[in-house]
Amino acid sequence: MINKLVVFGVGLIGGSCALALREAGAVGEIVGVGRSWENLSAALGTYVIDQAATEAANALQGADMVLLAVPMGQMDAVMAQIAPYLEAHTIITDAGSTKQDVASIARLHLGANLARFVPGHPIAGAEQSGVKAARGDLFRDKRVVLTPLPETDAAALDAVRTMWQTCGAEVHEMAPHEHDAIFAAVSHLPHLLAYALVDEIASRSNEAVLFQYAASGFRDFTRIAGSSPEMWRDICLSNREALLGELDAYQARLTLLRALLANGDGAELEQAFTRAQTARRARLR
Ligand code: NAD
Repeated sequence: MINKLVVFGVGLIGGSCALALREAGAVGEIVGVGRSWENLSAALGTYVIDQAATEAANALQGADMVLLAVPMGQMDAVMAQIAPYLEAHTIITDAGSTKQDVASIARLHLGANLARFVPGHPIAGAEQSGVKAARGDLFRDKRVVLTPLPETDAAALDAVRTMWQTCGAEVHEMAPHEHDAIFAAVSHLPHLLAYALVDEIASRSNEAVLFQYAASGFRDFTRIAGSSPEMWRDICLSNREALLGELDAYQARLTLLRALLANGDGAELEQAFTRAQTARRARLR
């Protein structure tokens, strides 16, 4: 039971976690801290939070658990803001999509509170953002990756693991660098590719005609280009090195396919497509 939960960034992820815990009867009071009153009043109006605040000092009084669910580019400012007001029992966690960056920021700001900081990343989301998109079942049967630091206190880790399990998630643990390498390949790269394709098509003089005929293939491939530009700018910058490596590997593969196409090498092209089809069918359901 979390008596007082404080959520910084009551958007899709913060709002969905608050709703899930409330629906499970696992939380007493929920305080939301945000940068826009419009979003906070929507969160109050839909009972996602009980109280709204725009600054940390009052919000953090008596908090058992603090969830940082702000865009990655805001983590530094928010950790600096909360650090002076954290109480000796308050556990801090985050939902940020990259983990090495969060660990460095926490080391910079949290001081003695670092042991009670448990970095996390829920592997569930949507291209919609803001509290209006929040759902209590967003994390059900989804994974949450925790990347504890060498300093992380075992009881704090247990509390955060239990929080996400209460939201219906399966909790995994790995090292921050391992997390960032994996998600550069399977999440950050696909988002960059989807944005690039839509942006390129949209820049053409006949874009209206092209979009008019874009059917399910284009829609499936580019669905994630509807995601928040602020959030994805921050994620790409925050995991820049790993993402550059993935981009190089993808470009090399495209160069290979381009050569097969230019040479009219149907047999090799079909083999490449067959390998991809087999892997996708075997690995993704
Ligand atoms: P969102 O835009 O829906 O919500 C973010 C909220 O943070 C907004 O309400 C915004 O007003 C608020 N905010 C911004 N700066 C703030 C500040 N300085 N102080 C307090 N509030 C502030 O975004 P989201 O999808 O909920 O993502 C939140 C975090 O979760 C991000 O770090 C993102 O990388 C991560 N994440 C997102 C997804 C996804 O698919 N959407 C999945 C997993 C993790």
